Amino acid sequence: MEAAKAAGADLAEVRVDLLDDDERVRWAQLVTEKTLPVVVTNRASWEGGKGVLDETERLSVLVEAEQLGAEYIDVELKAASVYRELRNATGAARNAKLILSHHNFERPLSKEELARVQERMISEGADVSKIAMAATSALDNALVFDALLNATVPTVVLAMGEFGQVSRILAPKYGSFLTFASVGVGRESAPGQVVIEKLTDTYRFRSLTPETPVYGVIGNPVSHSMSPALHNAAMKEAGVDGVYVPLKVGQDIPAFIRSMVSYGFAGFSVTIPGKVVAMDAMDTIDSVANKIGAMNTVVKQADGQLKGYNTDWVAAISAIEDGLKPDLLSEKRVVCIGAGGAARGLAFGALERGASHVLVVNRTVAKAQALATELGPARASAVSLDDFNESDAAFDILMNTTSVGMHPSVDDTPVRSERLLHKPLVFDAVYNPLKTRLLREASAAGCTTVSGLEMFVRQAAEQFRFWFEGVEVPVKLMRQVVVDSLES
Ligand code: NAP
Repeated sequence: MEAAKAAGADLAEVRVDLLDDDERVRWAQLVTEKTLPVVVTNRASWEGGKGVLDETERLSVLVEAEQLGAEYIDVELKAASVYRELRNATGAARNAKLILSHHNFERPLSKEELARVQERMISEGADVSKIAMAATSALDNALVFDALLNATVPTVVLAMGEFGQVSRILAPKYGSFLTFASVGVGRESAPGQVVIEKLTDTYRFRSLTPETPVYGVIGNPVSHSMSPALHNAAMKEAGVDGVYVPLKVGQDIPAFIRSMVSYGFAGFSVTIPGKVVAMDAMDTIDSVANKIGAMNTVVKQADGQLKGYNTDWVAAISAIEDGLKPDLLSEKRVVCIGAGGAARGLAFGALERGASHVLVVNRTVAKAQALATELGPARASAVSLDDFNESDAAFDILMNTTSVGMHPSVDDTPVRSERLLHKPLVFDAVYNPLKTRLLREASAAGCTTVSGLEMFVRQAAEQFRFWFEGVEVPVKLMRQVVVDSLES
């Protein structure tokens, strides 16, 4: 409780059923000596709890908690009438506010089920109604937001698990009575809970209002994305209202984007595996993103229409151009190692900026040939990675767009160091580690090097510029956030 208080919690939940056997006798002491208002919960084993007491003993703990001064007690909806009878029989007064709760750890409740459960809670005398349900898809968050927006009594609705984490973070936006946070990593009492400091510091939970526009990164996986730390810090620094959340998605990306926009989402970053399918949810797509065939940014425009952009290519190409100064990409011979998503953006981008030729180099040569054909035979050709490493043809710029050299395989490099002796500019899309083996060897050979960090920071800066027109982008801070998280 002290840790929760120090971290800024308004309420502490005493989960009697989760206390160890030797701690269980202490629950009453926790209540009498509380330093925060408390919710006392003794979750039934038939509703996901860990208690060992029989039903009467279990509910008696809650009757006693009311008498000891607990501000709230949490009783399962299914036990509401038994609880009321028990309390009436003991003659105990009703001292605490009653949270009636319902949990489903298997699946989300339908809209109709949610309404039915909420009605029953009200008719059973709930001061607060609370429903926690497993999320099996990102779209389940819409059910949560709807149930909260239509609530007539103080209400908590949460979608559990990673798909539903955003429902916990955005609780104040949709009017939830409270949200649950954990006091530390590994100390969550339900799946998807966020650590309290992260909730208050990163997501600025205290300043979220119904008007706060929401942004987020759509992907799978997203739990390790650095984008939430970067964009939230930038919004705070720039003094704009907004929050940026991780959004784990499944197959339903276009429907999810459309749905969330109707709940006050104003923009998205899109990462693997959404960069192509997200295009289906757009009203318009920027012409270069269309050519590349992939996007990473959704902007909700003033007229409500959604426009898709690709900021990856501008980010990487502008970083390369800064490295080339005072020269530009115009008339340069470019080697693109890789033929995947990042390669498409960089290869099209290089031609867009006037490169004379792009040689696509890939482990799987057929993919390199396919990309070169799309780029146009007049200005692009293809070769296998092995053949490229064996040859000695010169070039001006080399861009690695493969994951070779990425943590933990930091001793790998896609390019033989001898291929760099004529000092081309070398760019590496990998940014973990910041100095890949490729970049180290390029520096040693006297090449100008450009790190994937620049691409990552600039693609985010460009997104921020789209979302907050006219606001100065705190690029330096963005860079620092990424460097700090990589170093930690
Ligand atoms: P992708 O579509 O899966 O493409 C991966 C490419 O890497 C393919 O060409 C693949 O060759 C090649 N590759 C993978 N493992 C290889 C190996 N062991 N040896 C040789 N080639 C190998 O992935 P992507 O989206 O383009 O991303 C590629 C990299 O760019 C990732 O490391 C990603 O983190 C990075 N990236 C960075 C930023 C940034 O902001 N800095 C942005 C986007 C991406 P095959 O065709 O032979 O499989």
